[in-house]
Amino acid sequence: MGKPMQVAMNWASSWKETLLSLLEDLPPTLCPYIASISIDGTSATTMIIDSTTGEPLCKPFLYNESCPDALPFVTSIAPENHTVCAGSSTLSKLVSWWNSHNSDKGNAILMHQSDWLLWLLHGKLGVSDYNNALKVGYDPETESYPSWLVSQPFSYLLPTVKPPGTPIESIKEDMRKQFGFPKDCVVCTGTTDSIAAFLAAGATLPGKAVTSLGSTLAIKLLSTYRIEDSRFGVYSHRLDDKWLVGGASNTGGAVLRQIFTDDQLELLSQQINPLVASTLDYYPLPANGERFPIADPNMQPRLHPRPENDVHYLHGILESIARIEAKAFGLLKELGATEVEEVYTAGGGAKNEAWRKIRERVLGIPVRRAEHTEAAYGAALLALKGACQ
Ligand code: ADP
Repeated sequence: MGKPMQVAMNWASSWKETLLSLLEDLPPTLCPYIASISIDGTSATTMIIDSTTGEPLCKPFLYNESCPDALPFVTSIAPENHTVCAGSSTLSKLVSWWNSHNSDKGNAILMHQSDWLLWLLHGKLGVSDYNNALKVGYDPETESYPSWLVSQPFSYLLPTVKPPGTPIESIKEDMRKQFGFPKDCVVCTGTTDSIAAFLAAGATLPGKAVTSLGSTLAIKLLSTYRIEDSRFGVYSHRLDDKWLVGGASNTGGAVLRQIFTDDQLELLSQQINPLVASTLDYYPLPANGERFPIADPNMQPRLHPRPENDVHYLHGILESIARIEAKAFGLLKELGATEVEEVYTAGGGAKNEAWRKIRERVLGIPVRRAEHTEAAYGAALLALKGACQ
């Protein structure tokens, strides 16, 4: 057992400890009323587990880890431009593990981070949800693994997949007693962090969207129709009978931070008149390259001419980012998604009232600040869904 195994055990056990300490922190007076539990986890964080013990067989593959060694094989079996055709996809991680381990593979199963944490609570191994399973190749439309995946020798590792928020099993007796949960408390399938954050915002009808104004500008739109376009990094997650369409631009708060401090942003924004259009036309990027809504890896940032007045400069930048957001929604519509009707906003830029008004004018639809943006709130909504089934 070398160093990697040491690190492996540390990741998984620290996640486990964190879960248990969070449960420990629940007010004891509330525990008897907890009807159901769900958990969101980082997308594509992949664990290979021993099905006889539930313990990890190797270090977890973290969400952003890339396995370029597996990519030639993955692209040779998957359809062109499929979501799994990335070095960091769950399937690339699985293939990389499969090729580098010669023994002890018979009892192995694949689980995502949230599947494993939920397993600690319900004790049934090998259950996942169709949001987490998308990047291993599961098809949420047909609700099955495609034949090109099932025919692989490693397909026995793939988990059973259910819709997010589906009751899996009652909580294990030891856990129930340890935390004082009621006898009928059920553990439900989870989802990914970013989908949980979308659910938290409460956008439940087609045409409702959440724009996250963090370091980058990420858009998620609830659509009746599924769309995919790998050129723009656009793909759809299933949410019951609808599709959650997403895309992310490299513009966003990171550019603002290269030019202004957060205090300056607040002060200057207060002096902007959001009802008047800025004539300055920029394409703010923190570095060369854009993917969505313009697919151009060599695209240059455009932040000139810079006016002497910083209020005018910031106004121009915020207005330009709003135009990029409008173009992004326009592209999703062109690709076949439901037309956006209302936008909720999350992330560091959501508190900027002047920007909200600028976006409302440029997008031509209501723009609100989301009341809830914590992913944990979205996971709780999934647990509620499970409790009502
Ligand atoms: P992430 O989680 O992606 O790092 P956050 O959601 O924490 O990002 O948001 C941080 C971003 O918010 C920063 O890049 C910063 O430029 C931006 N930001 C902070 N304050 C404001 C403000 N008043 N107006 C606009 N953007 C802001």
